[in-house]
Amino acid sequence: MNESLINIFYVVASMLFIFGIKGLTHPRTAVRGNLLSASGMLLAIVVTLLKAEVIDYTFIIVGVIIGGIIGAVAAIRVQMTGMPQMVALFNGFGGIASILVAGGFLYEKVGSGITLPMDVMIATSASGLIGAVTFWGSLVAFCKLQEVVVPDNVFFPAQQVVNAVLFLVVLALAVLLVQNPDSSLLYWALVVVASVLGILLVIPIGGADMPVVIALLNSYSGLAAASTGFVVKNNVLIISGALVGASGIILTAIMCKAMNRSLTNVLFGVLGPTEGGPSADDVYAGKVKATSPEEVAMLLDGVNRVVIVPGYGMAVSQAQHAVRDLATLLEQRDVTVEFAVHPVAGRMPGHMNVLLAEADVEYDKLKEMDEINPTMGQVDVAIVIGANDVVNPVARTDPKSPIAGMPIIDVDKAKTVVVIKRSLSPGFAKIPNPLFAADNALMFFGDGKKAFLDLVAAVKEG
Ligand code: NAP
Repeated sequence: MNESLINIFYVVASMLFIFGIKGLTHPRTAVRGNLLSASGMLLAIVVTLLKAEVIDYTFIIVGVIIGGIIGAVAAIRVQMTGMPQMVALFNGFGGIASILVAGGFLYEKVGSGITLPMDVMIATSASGLIGAVTFWGSLVAFCKLQEVVVPDNVFFPAQQVVNAVLFLVVLALAVLLVQNPDSSLLYWALVVVASVLGILLVIPIGGADMPVVIALLNSYSGLAAASTGFVVKNNVLIISGALVGASGIILTAIMCKAMNRSLTNVLFGVLGPTEGGPSADDVYAGKVKATSPEEVAMLLDGVNRVVIVPGYGMAVSQAQHAVRDLATLLEQRDVTVEFAVHPVAGRMPGHMNVLLAEADVEYDKLKEMDEINPTMGQVDVAIVIGANDVVNPVARTDPKSPIAGMPIIDVDKAKTVVVIKRSLSPGFAKIPNPLFAADNALMFFGDGKKAFLDLVAAVKEG
């Protein structure tokens, strides 16, 4: 195929990626956005395959079939709550693909006696380095989120020094590789050291910072792909990698802000403050008031403004439709109902937005933290469903807490707070929540969906 025609197709594919990303910014257009981006990728792949002059399609077809089956099974079977793990794993696949493509290219050229120019060698080193950090970092993140093997906060003294030394060794190997383009051994040495660095960078990072790490690894996987694009001289790979790299870093910045983690802390695996907080017994003993659906229904009788705060438990119990039903019921009684959505509620960015959109909750009823917090004092009843860390006031009050400084939804300032969850168990950050023992708080113990169904029935009866 003619080179200009190929580039025209690549431009079309790139435009589809960009319109796809634009579509993903809103739940209503997200499905179309996804489809546009996927079509762009299909076009890019088909054109790239047609571009290649001599190619054995057997391996490609086998690869596409195996990859397609894995992707389809994962998409169908993985629960919404398991998405972050899946994203982590897919980021990792991007990383290892970059390592192998750049490594394969180098191996082929070294074998054929061609010496690669400096720019290609720099890109090859970058692919190996970033790809290995992404692959191993993502695997560690996957294991942490899946709660297998790797406990939180695995940390040894001087870990930062070891990381810094490893980084310098990787850089030195990269420089050596650029100077010795005929040595694929140097490339694999670089990959091995970068792999250790990837593991050590992610291992000390605790649970609450994980969303930031995933967003960052996503960005890394894009950078690795873009570097590989320079290696194999494929424009659309450079563009798509750059798009992933840029959008990943923007998401990282948003998540950092939402969780009050600085990017430097995340990049260098510095631990947030931990240890020494009060025990659950200290926080709760004798102070928690349990409530019932009937009592909450009475509370909701004659109120003006209700704010619903969803969290991870809404996702687990799949309560979004029941939540919507209660909101509709209250609105029919002239109550203003809003949904306060924390940027890191649930287990992935936009988790609550997706669930509420699935239940047809109108998007303009979803309020961001900064918008809702100033008026929280005027809210008659705040109903928290399965949220814990994102409404934990210790983020404001205890500088030693693991979530210190994380902006939260100030439900404790509402006139009454009803918290729906199964027990007093902690959330993701594994710390007690004094909100549950607050004077204005009532605990409605039960599964989120069942609790809302009971509540809807009680409100209807009342
Ligand atoms: P959370 O702090 O993890 O708390 C969730 C609560 O849901 C738990 O305390 C649990 O209490 C309750 N729950 C679980 N199953 C339930 C069910 N079937 N019915 C009712 N309640 C149920 O959740 P969050 O407030 O949404 O905060 C999110 C946390 O995850 C943050 O720490 C955030 O940093 C972290 N994180 C976020 C992301 C992201 O991108 N959004 C990714 C990874 C981690 P019971 O067991 O007592 O029911």
